[in-house]
Amino acid sequence: MKVNEVNRWLLEVEHPAKGDRNIVELGMVENVEVSEGKVSVTLAFSKHRDPLAEYLIGSAKAAIIRNSPAGTEVEVKTVIKEEAAPKKKPGLDLGFEELAGVRHVIGIASGKGGVGKSTVSVNLATALARLGYRVGLADADVYGPSVPKMTATEGALPDAILEGEKEVILPLEKYGVKWMSIGYFAKPEQALIWRGPMACNALKQMILQVRWGELDFLLIDMPPGTGDIHISLVHDIPMEGAVIVSTPQDVALADVEKGVNMFRNDSVKKPIFGLVENMAWFTPAEHPDERYHIFGQGGGQRMAEKYDIPLLGQIPIVQSIREGGDSGEPAALSSRPDGLAFIALAEKLASILK
Ligand code: ADP
Repeated sequence: MKVNEVNRWLLEVEHPAKGDRNIVELGMVENVEVSEGKVSVTLAFSKHRDPLAEYLIGSAKAAIIRNSPAGTEVEVKTVIKEEAAPKKKPGLDLGFEELAGVRHVIGIASGKGGVGKSTVSVNLATALARLGYRVGLADADVYGPSVPKMTATEGALPDAILEGEKEVILPLEKYGVKWMSIGYFAKPEQALIWRGPMACNALKQMILQVRWGELDFLLIDMPPGTGDIHISLVHDIPMEGAVIVSTPQDVALADVEKGVNMFRNDSVKKPIFGLVENMAWFTPAEHPDERYHIFGQGGGQRMAEKYDIPLLGQIPIVQSIREGGDSGEPAALSSRPDGLAFIALAEKLASILK
């Protein structure tokens, strides 16, 4: 048994008074310890008495007993927690006040369009939130902002408020993630204006003028490709590093090289945390155990080795991922194999960035 496994079991424990959000995403799991034959979990409650405390303790115990090997000793302890004081990460608040509370700003890039960069970004954000991390996603894909559709928040208009002299934009919240997209501000037919010289400033504003608050991860869904907009974005947003998404075909992998060079360029020099191989194999809905490597096998692994970056995850091509994108309910919300592939990806990224 591993701590991560126990965290995953605890996702099953929902708080009936909090819109059925689970105790992990509510930040109530304070500590998990695993030793031979024993699991000990500490749940945090706020000073105000939670009338459902006993119910949640019992449910957490039941979830662990259900999933752990027979005979495992299970202990659930509680602590009373004061509101946490905001943690500031030194080095990030160089004039970027809105990002001062963000621990990791990560660009999600791809050498070319259509490889599933937005699908991976939305699902990775959702999966990180399911694991209990505080997550935001800024959709800076000027060529086709997809966050509104992929989260069924089309037509929403984020509020702006005055903070002192400054106007700040409030992100939308859904599935435990804070979302922002240029799609909320431009109708699809207007999207062209975002691609001109104005685009860069508008994009930076959309990322830097947002009240993200305290976040563990802010993902930036970058526009596909490796042009001037990209270099400027990577330069001006305090990104810690990048994740690159590709499909396994040779033509797509050739573009990975451009993406890698963009971040390793002398004027940028940002680490690449890993490669995500999307559409790694096809699995038909009616035969979930079968894998067809329709775009070739092992391409992502070879590319990762060539550039000395970790292969962070492999995502199959399955109908439910496409349907999740179209319906606005990301596949990562599910416990099907495709949902778990995104959870595994999120766990891997979080473990690298700990
Ligand atoms: P990009 O952001 O790279 O342009 P998208 O994320 O918009 O690509 O994906 C393009 C299309 O492919 C979308 O219709 C999406 O639903 C679909 N798609 C992406 N990844 C998968 C996958 N793993 N399985 C099934 N469909 C996928």
